[in-house]
Amino acid sequence: MTAPTLTPLAAPQGGAAASGAADRRPMLTLALSKGRIFEETLPLLAAAGIVVTEDPEKTRKLILATNQPDVRVVLVRATDVPTYVQHGGADLGVAGKDVLIEHAAGSEGAGGLYQPLDLQIAKCRMSVATRADFDYEAAVKQGSRIRVATKYTAVARQHFADKGVHVDLIKLYGSMELAPLTGLADAIVDLVSTGSTLKANKLVEVERIMDISSRLVVNQAALKLKRERIRSLIAAFAGAM
Ligand code: ATP
Ligand code: MG
Repeated sequence: MTAPTLTPLAAPQGGAAASGAADRRPMLTLALSKGRIFEETLPLLAAAGIVVTEDPEKTRKLILATNQPDVRVVLVRATDVPTYVQHGGADLGVAGKDVLIEHAAGSEGAGGLYQPLDLQIAKCRMSVATRADFDYEAAVKQGSRIRVATKYTAVARQHFADKGVHVDLIKLYGSMELAPLTGLADAIVDLVSTGSTLKANKLVEVERIMDISSRLVVNQAALKLKRERIRSLIAAFAGAM
Protein backbone atom coordinates (compact mmCIF):
# COMPACT_ATOMS: atom_id res chain seq x y z
CA MET A 1 0.00 0.00 0.00
CA THR A 2 1.34 3.39 -0.92
CA ALA A 3 1.01 6.37 1.37
CA PRO A 4 -0.88 9.35 -0.02
CA THR A 5 1.50 11.81 -1.57
CA LEU A 6 1.92 15.22 -0.01
CA THR A 7 3.22 16.92 -3.11
CA PRO A 8 1.17 19.81 -4.54
CA LEU A 9 -1.88 18.76 -6.56
CA ALA A 10 -0.27 20.06 -9.70
CA ALA A 11 3.19 21.29 -10.48
CA PRO A 12 3.37 25.02 -11.09
CA GLN A 13 3.40 25.90 -14.76
CA GLY A 14 6.84 26.52 -16.12
CA GLY A 15 8.33 23.61 -14.19
CA ALA A 16 8.82 24.02 -10.49
CA ALA A 17 11.43 21.29 -10.51
CA ALA A 18 13.87 23.63 -12.19
CA SER A 19 13.62 26.14 -9.38
CA GLY A 20 14.68 23.57 -6.81
CA ALA A 21 12.83 22.18 -3.82
CA ALA A 22 14.08 24.76 -1.35
CA ASP A 23 12.08 27.68 -2.72
CA ARG A 24 9.13 25.62 -3.86
CA ARG A 25 5.90 26.65 -2.19
CA PRO A 26 2.67 24.70 -2.43
CA MET A 27 0.45 25.69 -5.34
CA LEU A 28 -2.44 27.97 -4.44
CA THR A 29 -5.51 27.52 -6.61
CA LEU A 30 -8.11 30.29 -6.73
CA ALA A 31 -11.55 29.62 -8.23
CA LEU A 32 -13.20 32.56 -9.98
CA SER A 33 -16.14 32.96 -12.32
CA LYS A 34 -15.74 34.91 -15.55
CA GLY A 35 -17.32 38.33 -15.79
CA ARG A 36 -17.88 40.77 -12.97
CA ILE A 37 -16.36 38.64 -10.21
CA PHE A 38 -13.18 38.03 -12.20
CA GLU A 39 -12.89 41.70 -13.17
CA GLU A 40 -13.52 43.00 -9.66
CA THR A 41 -11.15 40.50 -8.04
CA LEU A 42 -8.22 41.59 -10.24
CA PRO A 43 -7.44 44.77 -8.23
CA LEU A 44 -7.50 42.77 -4.99
CA LEU A 45 -5.10 40.23 -6.46
CA ALA A 46 -2.87 43.07 -7.63
CA ALA A 47 -2.70 44.32 -4.04
CA ALA A 48 -1.35 40.88 -3.12
CA GLY A 49 1.21 41.14 -5.93
CA ILE A 50 -0.66 38.68 -8.11
CA VAL A 51 -1.27 39.44 -11.78
CA VAL A 52 -3.25 37.04 -13.94
CA THR A 53 -1.25 36.76 -17.15
CA GLU A 54 -4.08 35.59 -19.41
CA ASP A 55 -7.41 37.16 -20.34
CA PRO A 56 -10.35 34.77 -19.78
CA GLU A 57 -12.28 36.52 -22.56
CA LYS A 58 -9.49 35.79 -25.06
CA THR A 59 -8.41 32.28 -24.16
CA ARG A 60 -10.25 28.99 -24.03
CA LYS A 61 -8.06 27.81 -21.20
CA LEU A 62 -9.79 27.08 -17.93
CA ILE A 63 -6.63 27.27 -15.84
CA LEU A 64 -4.90 30.64 -15.95
CA ALA A 65 -1.34 31.26 -14.90
CA THR A 66 -0.28 34.28 -12.87
CA ASN A 67 3.00 36.12 -12.44
CA GLN A 68 3.50 34.00 -9.33
CA PRO A 69 4.63 30.47 -10.18
CA ASP A 70 2.74 29.10 -7.18
CA VAL A 71 -0.62 30.80 -7.82
CA ARG A 72 -3.12 29.84 -10.49
CA VAL A 73 -6.73 30.72 -11.25
CA VAL A 74 -9.34 28.19 -12.29
CA LEU A 75 -12.40 29.48 -14.16
CA VAL A 76 -15.66 27.87 -13.08
CA ARG A 77 -19.35 28.73 -13.21
CA ALA A 78 -20.35 31.15 -10.43
CA THR A 79 -22.54 28.49 -8.81
CA ASP A 80 -19.71 25.94 -8.88
CA VAL A 81 -17.20 28.08 -6.93
CA PRO A 82 -18.34 26.89 -3.44
CA THR A 83 -18.29 23.27 -4.61
CA TYR A 84 -14.72 23.54 -5.91
CA VAL A 85 -13.51 25.16 -2.70
CA GLN A 86 -15.46 22.91 -0.34
CA HIS A 87 -14.08 19.76 -1.92
CA GLY A 88 -10.53 21.01 -2.41
CA GLY A 89 -10.59 21.49 -6.19
CA ALA A 90 -9.49 25.00 -5.29
CA ASP A 91 -7.98 26.38 -2.09
CA LEU A 92 -9.87 29.64 -2.30
CA GLY A 93 -12.59 31.25 -4.32
CA VAL A 94 -14.79 34.29 -4.69
CA ALA A 95 -18.55 33.78 -4.64
CA GLY A 96 -21.65 35.91 -4.26
CA LYS A 97 -23.73 35.76 -1.08
CA ASP A 98 -26.61 34.56 -3.30
CA VAL A 99 -24.57 31.59 -4.48
CA LEU A 100 -23.28 30.82 -0.98
CA ILE A 101 -26.76 30.78 0.58
CA GLU A 102 -28.12 28.49 -2.11
CA HIS A 103 -25.08 26.24 -1.83
CA ALA A 104 -25.39 25.96 1.95
CA ALA A 105 -29.08 25.07 1.57
CA GLY A 106 -28.17 22.20 -0.77
CA SER A 107 -27.99 18.62 0.41
CA GLU A 108 -24.32 18.78 1.32
CA GLY A 109 -24.40 22.00 3.33
CA ALA A 110 -21.33 24.19 3.49
CA GLY A 111 -19.09 22.16 5.78
CA GLY A 112 -15.39 22.80 5.22
CA LEU A 113 -16.03 26.22 3.70
CA TYR A 114 -14.55 29.11 5.61
CA GLN A 115 -15.74 32.67 4.80
CA PRO A 116 -13.19 35.07 6.23
CA LEU A 117 -13.96 38.19 4.25
CA ASP A 118 -16.79 40.09 2.60
CA LEU A 119 -14.93 41.61 -0.35
CA GLN A 120 -17.64 44.21 -1.05
CA ILE A 121 -17.43 43.52 -4.79
CA ALA A 122 -20.03 42.49 -7.38
CA LYS A 123 -22.63 44.29 -5.33
CA CYS A 124 -26.30 44.02 -6.09
CA ARG A 125 -29.52 43.14 -4.29
CA MET A 126 -31.95 40.24 -4.29
CA SER A 127 -35.44 41.50 -5.01
CA VAL A 128 -38.97 40.52 -5.87
CA ALA A 129 -40.17 41.86 -9.23
CA THR A 130 -43.51 41.63 -11.01
CA ARG A 131 -45.26 42.99 -14.06
CA ALA A 132 -46.36 46.59 -13.54
CA ASP A 133 -50.01 45.50 -13.74
CA PHE A 134 -49.69 42.91 -10.97
CA ASP A 135 -50.71 44.28 -7.58
CA TYR A 136 -48.18 42.54 -5.35
CA GLU A 137 -49.20 44.35 -2.16
CA ALA A 138 -52.84 43.40 -2.66
CA ALA A 139 -51.96 39.78 -3.38
CA VAL A 140 -49.89 39.62 -0.20
CA LYS A 141 -52.61 41.30 1.87
CA GLN A 142 -55.34 39.04 0.54
CA GLY A 143 -53.26 35.97 1.32
CA SER A 144 -53.36 34.83 -2.31
CA ARG A 145 -51.09 32.05 -3.43
CA ILE A 146 -48.34 33.65 -5.51
CA ARG A 147 -46.42 31.85 -8.23
CA VAL A 148 -42.75 32.81 -7.96
CA ALA A 149 -40.13 31.84 -10.51
CA THR A 150 -36.50 31.94 -9.41
CA LYS A 151 -33.06 30.44 -9.50
CA TYR A 152 -32.77 31.30 -5.78
CA THR A 153 -35.26 28.89 -4.25
CA ALA A 154 -33.66 28.79 -0.78
CA VAL A 155 -33.69 32.57 -0.40
CA ALA A 156 -37.20 32.84 -1.85
CA ARG A 157 -38.62 30.03 0.31
CA GLN A 158 -37.23 31.64 3.47
CA HIS A 159 -38.33 35.13 2.52
CA PHE A 160 -41.96 34.22 1.83
CA ALA A 161 -42.13 31.89 4.84
CA ASP A 162 -40.98 34.79 7.05
CA LYS A 163 -43.74 36.97 5.58
CA GLY A 164 -46.31 34.22 5.94
CA VAL A 165 -47.04 34.32 2.21
CA HIS A 166 -47.97 31.12 0.41
CA VAL A 167 -45.98 30.63 -2.75
CA ASP A 168 -45.59 28.09 -5.49
CA LEU A 169 -41.88 28.17 -6.30
CA ILE A 170 -40.88 27.49 -9.88
CA LYS A 171 -37.18 26.73 -10.28
CA LEU A 172 -35.50 28.35 -13.27
CA TYR A 173 -31.84 28.45 -14.27
CA GLY A 174 -31.83 31.75 -16.13
CA SER A 175 -33.77 34.57 -17.80
CA MET A 176 -36.17 34.87 -14.87
CA GLU A 177 -37.57 38.10 -16.38
CA LEU A 178 -39.38 36.04 -18.96
CA ALA A 179 -41.55 34.20 -16.43
CA PRO A 180 -44.06 36.98 -15.58
CA LEU A 181 -44.18 38.07 -19.22
CA THR A 182 -45.26 34.64 -20.41
CA GLY A 183 -47.65 33.87 -17.58
CA LEU A 184 -45.37 31.23 -16.08
CA ALA A 185 -45.29 33.15 -12.79
CA ASP A 186 -46.72 36.20 -11.02
CA ALA A 187 -43.38 37.28 -9.63
CA ILE A 188 -39.67 36.56 -9.78
CA VAL A 189 -36.90 36.66 -7.20
CA ASP A 190 -33.74 37.79 -8.93
CA LEU A 191 -30.60 39.87 -8.58
CA VAL A 192 -30.91 43.53 -9.46
CA SER A 193 -28.07 46.00 -9.80
CA THR A 194 -29.02 48.96 -11.99
CA GLY A 195 -32.56 47.79 -12.65
CA SER A 196 -32.13 48.24 -16.39
CA THR A 197 -32.84 44.58 -17.21
CA LEU A 198 -36.11 44.77 -15.28
CA LYS A 199 -36.98 48.03 -16.99
CA ALA A 200 -36.21 46.66 -20.45
CA ASN A 201 -38.67 43.87 -19.74
CA LYS A 202 -41.32 46.16 -18.22
CA LEU A 203 -40.97 44.67 -14.75
CA VAL A 204 -40.95 46.57 -11.46
CA GLU A 205 -39.01 45.86 -8.31
CA VAL A 206 -41.66 45.52 -5.60
CA GLU A 207 -39.61 44.32 -2.65
CA ARG A 208 -35.98 44.24 -1.67
CA ILE A 209 -34.99 41.01 0.09
CA MET A 210 -31.30 41.48 0.84
CA ASP A 211 -28.11 43.18 -0.23
CA ILE A 212 -25.61 40.96 -2.01
CA SER A 213 -21.85 41.16 -2.34
CA SER A 214 -19.13 38.62 -2.98
CA ARG A 215 -17.08 36.89 -0.32
CA LEU A 216 -13.76 35.16 -0.19
CA VAL A 217 -14.21 31.47 0.59
CA VAL A 218 -11.42 29.20 1.75
CA ASN A 219 -11.10 25.44 2.01
CA GLN A 220 -10.60 24.64 5.68
CA ALA A 221 -7.93 22.00 5.14
CA ALA A 222 -6.01 24.39 2.87
CA LEU A 223 -6.23 27.05 5.54
CA LYS A 224 -4.34 24.72 7.87
CA LEU A 225 -1.85 23.34 5.35
CA LYS A 226 -1.08 26.63 3.59
CA ARG A 227 -1.73 28.89 6.55
CA GLU A 228 0.87 31.62 6.06
CA ARG A 229 0.29 31.96 2.33
CA ILE A 230 -3.48 32.19 2.73
CA ARG A 231 -3.28 34.51 5.71
CA SER A 232 -1.09 36.98 3.84
CA LEU A 233 -3.46 36.84 0.88
CA ILE A 234 -6.44 37.58 3.14
CA ALA A 235 -4.53 40.47 4.73
CA ALA A 236 -3.64 41.92 1.31
CA PHE A 237 -7.26 41.62 0.13
CA ALA A 238 -8.54 43.24 3.32
CA GLY A 239 -6.03 46.06 2.98
CA ALA A 240 -7.03 46.76 -0.63
CA MET A 241 -10.75 47.07 0.03
P1 ATP B 1 -23.97 32.50 -15.52
O1 ATP B 1 -23.90 33.89 -16.09
O2 ATP B 1 -22.74 31.68 -15.77
O3 ATP B 1 -25.26 31.81 -15.78
P2 ATP B 1 -24.40 33.84 -13.07
O4 ATP B 1 -25.37 34.72 -13.77
O5 ATP B 1 -24.79 33.27 -11.74
O6 ATP B 1 -23.95 32.64 -13.93
P3 ATP B 1 -22.61 36.06 -13.14
O7 ATP B 1 -23.57 36.77 -14.02
O8 ATP B 1 -21.16 36.01 -13.50
O9 ATP B 1 -23.03 34.56 -12.89
O10 ATP B 1 -22.76 36.67 -11.69
C1 ATP B 1 -21.90 36.26 -10.69
C2 ATP B 1 -22.28 36.91 -9.41
O11 ATP B 1 -22.22 38.31 -9.55
C3 ATP B 1 -23.68 36.62 -8.89
O12 ATP B 1 -23.71 35.41 -8.19
C4 ATP B 1 -23.92 37.83 -7.98
O13 ATP B 1 -23.41 37.58 -6.68
C5 ATP B 1 -23.09 38.93 -8.64
N1 ATP B 1 -23.90 39.96 -9.32
C6 ATP B 1 -23.78 41.29 -9.12
N2 ATP B 1 -24.66 41.97 -9.85
C7 ATP B 1 -25.37 41.09 -10.55
C8 ATP B 1 -26.45 41.19 -11.49
N3 ATP B 1 -26.98 42.33 -11.86
N4 ATP B 1 -26.91 40.04 -12.03
C9 ATP B 1 -26.36 38.86 -11.69
N5 ATP B 1 -25.37 38.71 -10.80
C10 ATP B 1 -24.88 39.80 -10.22
MG1 MG C 1 -25.02 35.94 -15.62
